Amino acid sequence: MKLKTIIQVENLRKAYAQEEAVKGISFSVEQGTLFAFLGANGAGKSTTIEILCTLLKKTSGTVNINGYTLDSSNDNAAIRKSIGVVFQQSLLDERLTVYENIIHRGKMYGLSKQELAENYQFVSTHLNLNEIEKQKYGTLSGGQKRRADIAKALIHRPPLLFLDEPTTGLDPQTRQFVWQTIKRLQEDTNMTVFLTTHYMEEAAMAHKIVVLKQGEIVAEGTPDALKTKYAYDQLALVFHNSLKGTNWLIENNISHTEKQGIFTIRVQSTIHALALLKQAEPLIASFEVIKGTMDDVFIHIMKQEVS
Ligand code: ATP
Repeated sequence: MKLKTIIQVENLRKAYAQEEAVKGISFSVEQGTLFAFLGANGAGKSTTIEILCTLLKKTSGTVNINGYTLDSSNDNAAIRKSIGVVFQQSLLDERLTVYENIIHRGKMYGLSKQELAENYQFVSTHLNLNEIEKQKYGTLSGGQKRRADIAKALIHRPPLLFLDEPTTGLDPQTRQFVWQTIKRLQEDTNMTVFLTTHYMEEAAMAHKIVVLKQGEIVAEGTPDALKTKYAYDQLALVFHNSLKGTNWLIENNISHTEKQGIFTIRVQSTIHALALLKQAEPLIASFEVIKGTMDDVFIHIMKQEVS
């Protein structure tokens, strides 16, 4: 089934006084998917997100969001209604309770009393607000704040949620909890989630990844496709006798690297390690089969020169 495109970006550019931060990027995001936007610090992720969220003027290019064209007639207001945004810095009032903060936000969207009640029920259920809604925002833990931030961003029930590094600064357990909440929300409500993250294991759960480097797209695809292209599995061997091991590798024409007695061979997939292990079994003192990860993908892409 072909999914509907909810974000279409064509040849987007943004030049600041000193530099061009975004250099003509094009990509699309399909409705109901989780989309991960990756890149090292300074790659242009925040600049792009701020443009898509109508907070920053683009220099050129076209952006279509939920059927509306950025910077055309009244479309920016319609785009703002179509999106929820959670930035790294929260904008909630520390002195108000979670409930008050969210209701206040809903009123700014001009929701009727009934819509407000229904929508609050929706966000409260999906983000488990029951236990924290009466608490002042300023007293919440990092993970609880994140949940309240996301609830605030969704009170007008937009079809599209932008999250700029939603789990940065959280401890690993809280990070996992917040991440599961986001993933469940996306799956249960078929919402489109556009996120930036520095955590590769999070990106691995996206439907599509776009990697930005110095303002240009240097890789894009599903996590599996990127893994196939940029990561590989390896077999690490320690031989009883390194010299005999080396001879065996040379005789069998197996390319390898060696570091402190550990011989590493690139294999097509982990299963291909089996045949080699069987062949060399009498020579092997120990071995490890290492699966390629999204970290490898990211490191490999970042090492490449931008053309
Ligand atoms: P990070 O992961 O650190 O948030 P990023 O990928 O979001 O980085 P941007 O914040 O978009 O990157 O920055 C891209 C480039 O544009 C950087 O070189 C940055 O210094 C520059 N830049 C960002 N904002 C401005 C601004 N307001 N004025 C001038 N230059 C800017």
